[in-house]
Amino acid sequence: KTLPQDPILENSRRQISGACFSFVTPKKTAQPELIHTSKEMASELGLSNEALKSEEFLLLFTGNKIGENSHPYAMCYGGHQFGNWAGQLGDGRAINLGELVHKNKRWTLQLKGAGETPYSRTADGLAVLRSSIREYLCSEAMYHLGVPTTRALSIALTGDQVLRDVLYNGNPDYEKGAIVTRVAPSFLRFGNYEIFSSRQDYKTLTTLVDYTIKELFPEIKSTNKEGYIQLFKTVAQRTLTMIIHWQRVGFVHGVMNTDNMSILGLTIDYGPYGWLEGYDDAWTPNTTDRQHKRYRYGNQPNIGLWNLYQLANALYPLIEDAEPFEEILEQYKNDYAVKYLEMMKAKIGLFTTEEDDAELLSTLEENLQIIETDMTLFFRNLSVITKNDSVVDAVSKIEVAFYSIAELKEDTLEQWKAWFNLYVKRLQKESITDQERMLKMNGTNPKYVLRNYMAQMAIDKADEKDYSLVDELYTLLKKPYDEQPKFEKWFSKRPEWARNKVGCSM
Ligand code: AMP
Ligand code: MG
Ligand code: MG
Repeated sequence: KTLPQDPILENSRRQISGACFSFVTPKKTAQPELIHTSKEMASELGLSNEALKSEEFLLLFTGNKIGENSHPYAMCYGGHQFGNWAGQLGDGRAINLGELVHKNKRWTLQLKGAGETPYSRTADGLAVLRSSIREYLCSEAMYHLGVPTTRALSIALTGDQVLRDVLYNGNPDYEKGAIVTRVAPSFLRFGNYEIFSSRQDYKTLTTLVDYTIKELFPEIKSTNKEGYIQLFKTVAQRTLTMIIHWQRVGFVHGVMNTDNMSILGLTIDYGPYGWLEGYDDAWTPNTTDRQHKRYRYGNQPNIGLWNLYQLANALYPLIEDAEPFEEILEQYKNDYAVKYLEMMKAKIGLFTTEEDDAELLSTLEENLQIIETDMTLFFRNLSVITKNDSVVDAVSKIEVAFYSIAELKEDTLEQWKAWFNLYVKRLQKESITDQERMLKMNGTNPKYVLRNYMAQMAIDKADEKDYSLVDELYTLLKKPYDEQPKFEKWFSKRPEWARNKVGCSM
């Protein structure tokens, strides 16, 4: 370990200064039981299928046994939560087991929900089955969608009861405790840098930044001012890339606090996230954010920028020149405009450039919000429209994406017909064939995403010890862009009973 460590070796809650992490001991659990493992992740780590089935694996990845060279630790970080500086947060319920190198790739393995750490503040350091299933399924699904993300190796029950809620009659509503093993090259967040800057501990900040460059950004050759600027630039670019992917697939993170922003530009901390069903700029899955909707779908690119400003402020003392930061932040805005347009054009199958493309897309985004229109179904079905389709043909191919045909009034239909009229004409200017375009579009527009109600169904069954749906969704979401006839039922709108139901993060 080249980073400064907390000299106190116990899990008790406290403020920690001058250290990037604290050594901790995971909590022993009552009755660990594996629910599911990611064979894909395991093979990236060099773990065989036999290894996954071993008692050793179960004990290691529920915190019940510490591996030979493992020195479990929790990291110190702060963060801006909903726009306000929140002070020390840290790994309150995440414990890093250590690092593993396989095929020249380095991975950090982390248990989420393995008990209290110095950073647990007022909470218990535990996780419940429902939030763990949501993280496990979604992070692997995002990986297979091609979205930069932290991964998951396993999900297990702890056998302990965890208290999150009290029933209406005042009785405690115990839930099953669970642990997800998360995997990423690093779990460092913007907040890891912010905390030392806020404490004016520039010595530790410099150590951490230098470590970050040397260990995680080897393409940056220097740990001087130039290198620091290069680091910030790379982080800005990766953050933007990640968010453009979110917009493409309709993922809404829900809590883009700076402690939930990975320095590697990975989607991290799957809490109250959700997927757009009806396309809606203003939608957020986070019920605690329903008033300001700070973290709504349409605001994610802006929040990415706001968060980068906070990181810039944190790094500023090492550079003492605002100009390079301002340039990079300005570049983010320009790059965003260009990349967003390019991404949306790919979603509707435009690969050449015409003057009115941006307008065609902004009209589409308006149309999609006149009546509730399922984002996934709409874009997927758009690929079967051909250059020779009439406007009526075209509308009939996407109609299934409307939540209520009854809502499709005369004027709404006219608006759609007008758009399809322009769209089909625009397709005629593309040089590739309908077939070629369909293939390209189907690689951009997923057929299957983890709709909120799907995760909820898997959770309800799992609570009854039936893990078949966890496995089915896991399998389905490994190939989100493929036609999977046996899973066709998952290519459909959210059922009416699931309206307004959102997942919970805690
Ligand atoms: P989040 O909003 O989930 O990103 O969490 C914000 C902070 O609260 C992080 O420092 C977490 O580690 C911490 N935290 C969240 N849930 C728990 C919990 N059950 N026990 C301890 N710390 C928690
Ligand atoms: Mg978090
Ligand atoms: Mg969380």
